[in-house]
Amino acid sequence: MSSQESLNRRAFIAVGSTSLALAGAVDAKESNSESRDSDLAIHGGPKAVKASVPKLRRWGDKEQRRLTSMIEQDSLFYWKGPQTTQLIENFRKLCPSKYVMSCSSGTAALHIAVAALGIQPGDEVVTSPITDIGTVIGVIYQQGVPVFADLDPATYNLDPDDVARKITPKTKAIIAVHLAGNPCDLARLKELADRFGLVLIEDCAQAWGAHYRGQPVGTVGHIGCFSLQQSKQVTCGDGGIVASNDERFGPKLQRFGDKGLDRLGTGGLFESFATNYRMSEPQAAVAAAQLERVEEIASKRAKLGNRLSEHLRGIQGVEPHRIHPEDRCTFWFYMFRLHLDHFRCDRTEFVKALTAEGVPASAGYIPVPLYGNPVFQQHGFFAGHWPIRDYGITNMDYTKVSCSTAESILKTSVRISIQESMSEAYVESIAEAVRKVARHYRV
Ligand SMILES: *Cc1c(COP(=O)(O)O)cnc(C)c1O
Repeated sequence: MSSQESLNRRAFIAVGSTSLALAGAVDAKESNSESRDSDLAIHGGPKAVKASVPKLRRWGDKEQRRLTSMIEQDSLFYWKGPQTTQLIENFRKLCPSKYVMSCSSGTAALHIAVAALGIQPGDEVVTSPITDIGTVIGVIYQQGVPVFADLDPATYNLDPDDVARKITPKTKAIIAVHLAGNPCDLARLKELADRFGLVLIEDCAQAWGAHYRGQPVGTVGHIGCFSLQQSKQVTCGDGGIVASNDERFGPKLQRFGDKGLDRLGTGGLFESFATNYRMSEPQAAVAAAQLERVEEIASKRAKLGNRLSEHLRGIQGVEPHRIHPEDRCTFWFYMFRLHLDHFRCDRTEFVKALTAEGVPASAGYIPVPLYGNPVFQQHGFFAGHWPIRDYGITNMDYTKVSCSTAESILKTSVRISIQESMSEAYVESIAEAVRKVARHYRV
């Protein structure tokens, strides 16, 4: 029985009874039998999630065939390599992009993007405080300043109103992180970028296969960045892709991932300076094959996450992960929020109870927003120093930064792991477990 149904029934009983006392007695009896039916697994009751998730086999024949053809090659270097060429072609099918550069990680892809847009020391880049630190590593290495904007309480993505408040004459770019594969409000972020002459970079590291209003993420902003690290929807162990359709930045992506060398240029003289972020052919072979799996993985994960939302809806005190109905979120994870005033337990106990029910749950995501980490609090990015701050080029003070919604998201959210090998019945049993635990602890 949903809490809504249960409420209706109580209201009905109350109205239909000859006395309120009787209604109270019936209500007490009902909640007694309810609690007997729903003995928590953590107290020795039966688990709500009885099935186990079939083992996920993430690579197989497709990858094997590519690796076999790679072994026959004379060169394993990326430039004009057959595997890299195939990887780029497969990427373009997912994300139509004129300029595509494969690289060694998602962090590398983001660093290349920031380098290609040519930020100057002290230039500011507005982004999310709830993300992988790889989102801002490149900004800091280019002597830029990550500026953290607050988030929407239900999508966990950038709140465009707060982004607008964080824009200053020093702002050069926005990095929109599609957290967990949930597309950001790109129309509003793009509108801000256009109005203030900023570059919109999309961090799609968690968003393989995600669509914003039907359009692949990574193609709405000026530059799209992807990760192929082990934990992402598709992987080659470690890897990344950076792509653009913009003539200002696209032609620079290759050289900023390749020691500043423009391999199409003549003369071999260095006109720009960069590090080596190249991806070799063995990685590209696996990555090319993995990209053929994106559509299937993405549609499966989208369906599972949406099904979970449908079944969590209506549980008092539980706020599902909000996805725009016209978008495709590919659920790198699913995260709902607890309104703790509805419960007689804290989040730790709620998650413990859920885990005992067999749910792959954990508390929150990262322990603190990025700016809460010691290296930010101490402004100690370069051997304990931050030259642009020491020399007065920025006066950013991360000890004074506070994004209250982001902080409250991290304190009240529960993360559920989603795997494409899960069945819909399995995610329904996860929702059943949440309902059971929520009912048990309801105030
Ligand atoms: C994983 C991730 C990165 C960094 O990717 P790596 O390949 O691990 O360097 C950047 N941003 C987000 C949102 C990520 O999830």
